[in-house]
Amino acid sequence: MAIWYQFTKFSQSLWRGRPAMVFSCVGLIVKFIAVVGVTLSISVARASVTPKRVIVLQSNGQDFKPWSDYVRTFRQELEQQSSLPMVIQHFPVALGPGGEGAERQLSAYLDRLFSGGTPDLLVAFGAPAAAFLQRHRTELFPTVPALLAAIDERRVQQMRLTGNDAVVAVWIDIPSLFENIVRVLPETKNVAVVIGNSSNEGFWVDEIRSRLQPMKERINLLFWNELSFEEILKRAAVLPKDSAIFWIQPQVDVTGATHDGEQALKRLHAVANAPIFSHDDAFFGDAIVGGRMTSVLQGSRAAAAVAVKILGGEKAGEIKTPALLYEAAKYDWRELKRWGIPEGRLPEGSKVLFRQPSAWELYRWQVLAVCSALLIQTTLIFRLLFEKRGRVLAEVQARQRSSELAHINRFSMAGELTATIAHELNQPLGAILTNVETAELIVKSPVIDPKQIGEILADIRRDDMRAADVIGRLRTLIKRTPFELKDVDLNDTARETVQFLSALAVGREVELISLVAPMPLSVQGDPIQLQQVVLNLIVNAMDAMSGMPSTERRIKVSTSRDGSSACLSVSDVGPGIPADQLKQVFEPFFTTKPKGMGMGLSIARTIVETHSGQISAENLAGRGAAFHITLPLAKQPK
Ligand code: ADP
Repeated sequence: MAIWYQFTKFSQSLWRGRPAMVFSCVGLIVKFIAVVGVTLSISVARASVTPKRVIVLQSNGQDFKPWSDYVRTFRQELEQQSSLPMVIQHFPVALGPGGEGAERQLSAYLDRLFSGGTPDLLVAFGAPAAAFLQRHRTELFPTVPALLAAIDERRVQQMRLTGNDAVVAVWIDIPSLFENIVRVLPETKNVAVVIGNSSNEGFWVDEIRSRLQPMKERINLLFWNELSFEEILKRAAVLPKDSAIFWIQPQVDVTGATHDGEQALKRLHAVANAPIFSHDDAFFGDAIVGGRMTSVLQGSRAAAAVAVKILGGEKAGEIKTPALLYEAAKYDWRELKRWGIPEGRLPEGSKVLFRQPSAWELYRWQVLAVCSALLIQTTLIFRLLFEKRGRVLAEVQARQRSSELAHINRFSMAGELTATIAHELNQPLGAILTNVETAELIVKSPVIDPKQIGEILADIRRDDMRAADVIGRLRTLIKRTPFELKDVDLNDTARETVQFLSALAVGREVELISLVAPMPLSVQGDPIQLQQVVLNLIVNAMDAMSGMPSTERRIKVSTSRDGSSACLSVSDVGPGIPADQLKQVFEPFFTTKPKGMGMGLSIARTIVETHSGQISAENLAGRGAAFHITLPLAKQPK
């Protein structure tokens, strides 16, 4: 009760509040009922119409190409083009040796089937079916309209048509079929025509022969109508060079065997050593090269259009359709490739079908991905190479700079050594002067002793060489030389530097001892720069001991081998280096000397590191400091 009460209340509120809305709802419901009613009445009316009965007669067997294709496409087209209810019955018209008996049976069967009522339309596809229809028309369905389709115009002209017959004929343009062959394969000399031996096929043998008379000189026609299909297969496998095959199809071969178009063509294609052409596109797509051909779709569509007109009440004999001509040429890409036919030879506007996608089309994304990866990789490699080159350049520049710095350092050191050098030069120059004075006295004496003169001259020569040697060493020190790696024995470096500074050591009252290793210590290095490092260390050691009594001042320069390294140490007995400054001493501009620059050890470290070595400082146990250099030993040739 409560629900009913609420519904009543709701209706009342609707009526009160929204009368317009209620009216529109009622209107919609009325419209809906009207539409449903009309649709139902149309459906009932359609259902009550008697379906049209169409009999389709197809030449040869149920699956016999090309007519099986025509019938199938015709049915689809008819259903699309007509809205009439329809019953389509399809009967194959048999051929072959038992043809006559089969024909009689089919005729009797059709007679019985339609005893209760005649069909509305008879359709025959292909010449054999049309011939059957003509033969049995009067006894079967004399008053039923007929449509003859997929028949060549020439065959139609041979038929006795009535006013109840419509025709959708085709025109098989024989010369153009063969011109197509020589167009795409200009070298062609022989064309084998694959065709059967039935009377229908005999017509075509004669027709081809006569139509191709003008091409007689150009191509040699081989008619295989008198061969069994097995023999045809054998010959197709061994055709001479520059041959082609023209496939009409052996409907009934010389042995009386019928050959289904599809299967027979497949067998021929499998063995043939020459390209196959045909006149009907029902065969296109499996084995034939292509060209301009009769079109199944075009023929079936046109036939369906005529059928619709007849079923709609038009008189069959009055429907005139011009014979259908070939459609635009189409070719099978796979066959073009197989026989090396360039697409440039195809007529303008040709379609090339069954094109297989290229590797690029198939794997475009994969190829792009791989290329991108390669590109990125290449870019990275180039970048790395570029950076490496940059590093190498930077290293070269660093070496040059350290070379220049080293030169400045050597130059300043030469200034420091000037007094010593002057002292060193004084000795030979003084000796030379003394010897010259002695020689003058001897020359003035009454008796000249040539032996004595010889000795004096030898002394002069020796002293002169000593002076030249001093100057030579100085020049070497201040000479600007580019960095160059040579085989250097670290023992020689130690010895030569000690010798170079021996005069300075005497002047500074320092005992300079060199203790070189007994074996050669061959390293790869710049001899002048290495000498400069040792020179710096010795001069620093002399400076460190300047406040000590001269009797205690001692510097030891020693070399040794440690595994694959050559070592050189300079130790003194000075005050040593404060522990917190042991690393600092190698920093540029670190100095504790009033007139120091603080560059000597910094340059020494740069030189040693440029030689892939290391330099370090330590305080010795008793007193004094020691500086150690280690350099990689050069690999000895085996
Ligand atoms: P500079 O000789 O112009 O001061 P260096 O770079 O050659 O520049 O030396 C830096 C500093 O290292 C020196 O000022 C000194 O304090 C310290 N030093 C170098 N060699 C020794 C040594 N053998 N004993 C004590 N101190 C040293």
